[in-house]
Amino acid sequence: MIGAGLAGSLLAIFLARRGFKVTVYERQPDMRHHTIPAGRSINLALAHRGIRALKHVGIFEQVSKLLIPMRGRMLHDKQGRTALTPYGRTPTEVIHSISRPGLNKLLMDAAENAGARIHFGQRCDDLDFDSGNLQLVEDSGRHSHTVQAPPVIATDGGGSAVRQAMVKRLGVKVVEDLLPHGYKELTIPAGADGRHPMEREALHIWPRGGYMLIALPNLDGSFTVTLFLPAQGIPSFASLEKPATLRAFFANNFPDALQFLPDLENEFYAHPTGLMGTVHSDAWHVRDQVLLLGDAAHAMVPFHGQGMNCAFEDCLILDRCIEKYAGNWGKVFTEFESQRKPDAEAIAAMALENYVEMRDAVRDPKFQLQKKLGFLLEERHPGVFVPRYSLVMFHHLPYSEAQRRGAIQQQILDALTAHIGSIEAVDIKQADAVIYEKLGTRKITT
Ligand SMILES: Cc1cc2nc3c(=O)[nH]c(=O)nc-3n(C[C@H](O)[C@H](O)[C@H](O)COP(=O)(O)OP(=O)(O)OC[C@H]3O[C@@H](n4cnc5c(N)ncnc54)[C@H](O)[C@@H]3O)c2cc1C
Repeated sequence: MIGAGLAGSLLAIFLARRGFKVTVYERQPDMRHHTIPAGRSINLALAHRGIRALKHVGIFEQVSKLLIPMRGRMLHDKQGRTALTPYGRTPTEVIHSISRPGLNKLLMDAAENAGARIHFGQRCDDLDFDSGNLQLVEDSGRHSHTVQAPPVIATDGGGSAVRQAMVKRLGVKVVEDLLPHGYKELTIPAGADGRHPMEREALHIWPRGGYMLIALPNLDGSFTVTLFLPAQGIPSFASLEKPATLRAFFANNFPDALQFLPDLENEFYAHPTGLMGTVHSDAWHVRDQVLLLGDAAHAMVPFHGQGMNCAFEDCLILDRCIEKYAGNWGKVFTEFESQRKPDAEAIAAMALENYVEMRDAVRDPKFQLQKKLGFLLEERHPGVFVPRYSLVMFHHLPYSEAQRRGAIQQQILDALTAHIGSIEAVDIKQADAVIYEKLGTRKITT
């Protein structure tokens, strides 16, 4: 395997538990003994799909010690007023903030305990599909060597070197759609009492139309804050080059966050501006030799909080394909790709839509009304009308099916709220009839 990130380390556990001899080459030094710049999101949101995969290999109990539940979106307006919009209808429908390095280290430990070997400081440079030779460069950059590898599973992330070799050597078509927005990470430290200075169990959002600030809680009382902003134009990363402009921008747009950001200027100019995008690859596998999995196959923008969750679900689904076609990697890879690709396309599209929802739509009273109505309809028709966000975050229905049902439900919500402004005005009999007509009575099973 190439890459011992989140997907690679979890997949190594799955494979080692099946008795395979697993060798992983990871370009970074071992993060359990070296400090590695996070590079990107220091914490992430873990949801039901990811949790199911972690449970499957018996490590969720350990992981659960790293979690902070987030019950909903805490919206902050320009006056600093806040309002919580719950993510789900029931108390178990929450997502969880988790430290990326904390989770990655735990997964690496578990992979090694299961029997996998991880070689650190080994960067994959190229893969020759004729000879099956994998070219590796040691971190010093001075030594390179080759290993006979097939089958290779590439979990080397959005910039996958293996995917690039598929493009260069086999002409595989890949589109990398970069978003014209970037992101910057900042820190709200713990308060003087060591506690979180804002509500702990929420994902905080400062939606401002074309851009937004978000904050996720950490176990040490701090929050990791992320500013999502266009690269060019006004306002943009390009327009915030001067410290005075930066401070004024925060004072105007995020006054209540600014009071908790003592190191704003230092962090803003020292931290890199991250890029985000969607990767569409025509092929995810080469015969029985190579498979791309996780971000290497389908990197997506982070706004649905599903990149890691989807990658973890990939591991579970690949494991099922291995079970089905034991010993025949060609069939395993073919089945995995055909089953998973439509779902990856669906979640990538929904993640893009969610950017508009988070930074803009959440402020719209119609959006809030439809949210409330969605929960009401779910209560009346459990398992039949399930809000799309819940289908993605709290269920295991294939993403493409969640997208399909979500589109029908959106039409229902639009029709029911076209001429009203409050939940009391909803014609509930009409709602029941239209749900019966469009969705039937069969409950979703996952
Ligand atoms: C700002 C941001 C916020 C996010 N928030 C969330 C969230 O809340 N919830 C969620 O589910 N997802 C989130 N994601 C997405 C999530 O980070 C990714 O989907 C996830 O990390 C994918 O895991 P991976 O193992 O496929 O790739 P990675 O985590 O990128 O791991 C790839 C590994 O391969 C190694 N590697 C790379 N190239 C080579 C090479 N040539 N040779 C050897 N090793 C190599 C890397 O060092 C790394 O260890 C977020 C992403 C971003 C950018």
